[in-house]
Amino acid sequence: MDYTDIYEEYPELRDLKPRRTSPRRSRKRGLTNSGRLIVLLAVILAAAALLALILTVTRAETATVYGKDGEVKEVPSGELESYLAQGWYASPDDLTEIKLYAEDGSVVLARRGDAERLAEKGYYSDITKAYTNMYSEEGRTLYVPNTMVDVYKSRGWHDKLGDIITSLYKSDGSKLAVPKAQAAAYMEEGWTDKLLKVAKKMIGPKGEEEMVFNDDVDAYLKKGWTVAKRVVDPDQPMIALTFDDGPGKYTDKLLDCLDKNNSAATFFVLGELVETYPDTVKKANDIGCEIANHTWDHLNATSAGGAETAESVRRTSDAVKELIGKGTALYRPCYGVYNEDVLGEVGLPAIMWSIDTLDWKTRNADSTYNTVMDDVYDGAIILMHDIHEPTVEAATRLIPKLVEEGYQLVTVSELLEYRKGGAEKGQVYNSAKPE
Ligand SMILES: [Zn+2]
Repeated sequence: MDYTDIYEEYPELRDLKPRRTSPRRSRKRGLTNSGRLIVLLAVILAAAALLALILTVTRAETATVYGKDGEVKEVPSGELESYLAQGWYASPDDLTEIKLYAEDGSVVLARRGDAERLAEKGYYSDITKAYTNMYSEEGRTLYVPNTMVDVYKSRGWHDKLGDIITSLYKSDGSKLAVPKAQAAAYMEEGWTDKLLKVAKKMIGPKGEEEMVFNDDVDAYLKKGWTVAKRVVDPDQPMIALTFDDGPGKYTDKLLDCLDKNNSAATFFVLGELVETYPDTVKKANDIGCEIANHTWDHLNATSAGGAETAESVRRTSDAVKELIGKGTALYRPCYGVYNEDVLGEVGLPAIMWSIDTLDWKTRNADSTYNTVMDDVYDGAIILMHDIHEPTVEAATRLIPKLVEEGYQLVTVSELLEYRKGGAEKGQVYNSAKPE
């Protein structure tokens, strides 16, 4: 680091230098050689007494100031401020040399008494105001000038400790936080960063929920607890599979696969088909899938207008509510078309997608499977249609594969809840990438 005397190197701070015009020196009084010693002594004593009296009287109204070169001076209290402004200091401690730090990385020397005024110019005695503590993936740490933070970030450093630390677990309940770069070595010794691999969410007799490490699961089972089927770990990748235009005759097969893999999907159903396949809708709800809204009969919202679309959505929601006890919370515009009028009238969050399989067009299971596996990422919302047999075939291959790759298959509401803190009415959502 480069240390600089701030008073030499920073011209704009020169005005902080003591601006002292030639100081008045106490005049030496020449003593005359008098023959009469007694008289002289008397005069000296009288003068001393007078001086002592004057000092006593005036002391309360003077202040001591300290010059940068070590001068000490008594000045009238009323003039103290002006002396300080001219570069004198109120305390000898103010002359102590200290280091100040600027955001550009310069380290300068200054007198303690100037620290407050220099802070206004961006020089801080507290290094944390000008520098940021940064962390490398290997767990090293370093103070970096604030203006260099972005440069360090581009080299892979992080300004939040949480970014480089990962939590590791064992089935006996052991926990450990290690730098991410070291995690692989720990995992070879039986640690995992996926809590759900070594713990299960369990539900107690009164409905209470708890994460229980695998070694303790049996003890909980004996106490009457059960293992929750589907658990979402917010720290692990998650995606939302969505199926439009159903339910249909292949949907049940899809539900069985989801259930077997402790996974869920969101079905944007048509109201008229809810009436045709009521048991399928109930089953989807029972296994934790979300029933969402795709209008009664695949209405083109921009042609129909906001009022008619809202009516079609409401009618569908009522049909769903009659079956499962709750209406639909999400709306997907048919053909992906909508406008402000539609969003306002429908009054639900509008859910689009970020990966379009084009399954309705290709009607090819391999194509649908490959599109998803090639494009999938944490936070994706994937569009498919469960009324086509090749789509359901693709999905039954995709679901176990995605789970194996570490993706949690969650509903759209869950995805938005974990990643966006919920979904707002009238807002449009395409995906939910982690922030
Ligand atoms: Zn559709």
